[in-house]
Amino acid sequence: MDDQRYHKLRGQMIIKQLIPRGINDERVLEAFRKVPRHLFVDSRHQAKAYGDYPLSIGLDQTISQPYIVALMTQSLELKGHEKILEIGTGSGYQTAILSELVEHVYTMERLPSLSEKAAQTLQELGYQNISFRSGDGTGGWPDEAPFNGILVAAAAAKIPQTLLDQLASGGRMVIPVGSPLFQKLTLVIKDETDLKEQNICGCRFVPLIGSENTD
Ligand code: SAH
Repeated sequence: MDDQRYHKLRGQMIIKQLIPRGINDERVLEAFRKVPRHLFVDSRHQAKAYGDYPLSIGLDQTISQPYIVALMTQSLELKGHEKILEIGTGSGYQTAILSELVEHVYTMERLPSLSEKAAQTLQELGYQNISFRSGDGTGGWPDEAPFNGILVAAAAAKIPQTLLDQLASGGRMVIPVGSPLFQKLTLVIKDETDLKEQNICGCRFVPLIGSENTD
């Protein structure tokens, strides 16, 4: 398939999967128009990359469904100046979307081979405002904290306190919280005095495996 065909599939993904479900932030939609999602999956899955579902990226991990990536991104209400922490780099697709929308993305992945592959893909595509770290992200990235936004792409039993501590005042965090089979996609908004939690929708993510995610 050529680039033009993939461009067309991206347009259809936006019109059929994102806009009808309430993704209306024009900057978010523009990022989805631009990022070549098919380059973040294995070559044998490329024709399916713009489908309305997650896909395997190997090692029992998945690239999230486009709508879920869009919903999580939109809920952070990004304006362009932000410093963002992402836990669970996976394929690097969500990282690329964030990179289009903010000043700098700090992304952590516990599986070194996925981290290396994502870094290579993103470098080849010319992204320069991303820092990668391979390791357990439940402890956050203390030397770069606080962050204006934190996006966790794996299912937590509860919200890691360390991540809450690393969220800036006025910041937003989106994280799936619940059991291994079903979670609530949760938005946390931090202001000077307290934390507010909102339930966005039900979801199912691969588990967050780390020292600060024990029951
Ligand atoms: N947004 C990614 C989704 C990746 S799936 C994408 O669209 O490609 C979630 C990822 O979180 C997996 O790659 C998994 O290895 C990683 N992960 C799980 N627990 C983690 C932890 N404690 N720290 C960092 N990464 C973790």
